[in-house]
Amino acid sequence: MFTSMINFIFPPLCVHCGTEGAWLCNTAQQELKRENVITNPIDIKHVDCVLVRGSYDCAPLAQLVQKLKYHYWTGVSDTLEAVLQPLVAELHVPKDTVIVPVPLHARRQRERGFNQSLIISKALSRLTGLRVANILQRQRYTTPQAHLSAVERTTNIIGAFSQGAEKKWPKSVLLVDDVITTGSTISECAGVLRQNGVQKITAIAIAKG
Ligand SMILES: [Zn+2]
Repeated sequence: MFTSMINFIFPPLCVHCGTEGAWLCNTAQQELKRENVITNPIDIKHVDCVLVRGSYDCAPLAQLVQKLKYHYWTGVSDTLEAVLQPLVAELHVPKDTVIVPVPLHARRQRERGFNQSLIISKALSRLTGLRVANILQRQRYTTPQAHLSAVERTTNIIGAFSQGAEKKWPKSVLLVDDVITTGSTISECAGVLRQNGVQKITAIAIAKG
């Protein structure tokens, strides 16, 4: 009811072409259907398996990520679930697996107002029935990775993460980010999980940059 009222006042515009009516128009949905889920596009240290919905070269996926990252977007839930469905179909993890979003630093989260990785995690949770837990926190404020070279990204992120609010480490984790590029952020998070006894780490993102 609330969503339909919002949609009436602010009708959704396709993130791909701007057409009014849905966040992804039929053309954008068809383009997404042709994009395959990618398993292990790169090796990431400490990570057992990497699953991404598709390439950042797939325009609707890239536009979806940008919309998610830079705009506060209330209508995202249903669209994200539909986009992530094919990825979830390829997911094979134990039932007690916990979903862990890559955390933002508290300061950046305040500036932005939300953590896009948490929004993706919640969509994954609804699709899988697995719970989301804030096991990690970002203890150091870092330069955004997108502004840095591959080498700089690795050093920029070292020591950035530590244990979060939740104190019990699970055996299996889905580590969630919006985009995986060099994998240095995911690797740094996964290293902290490994040090604390997490045995199975699956990294998930919407797109491979
Ligand atoms: Zn469109």
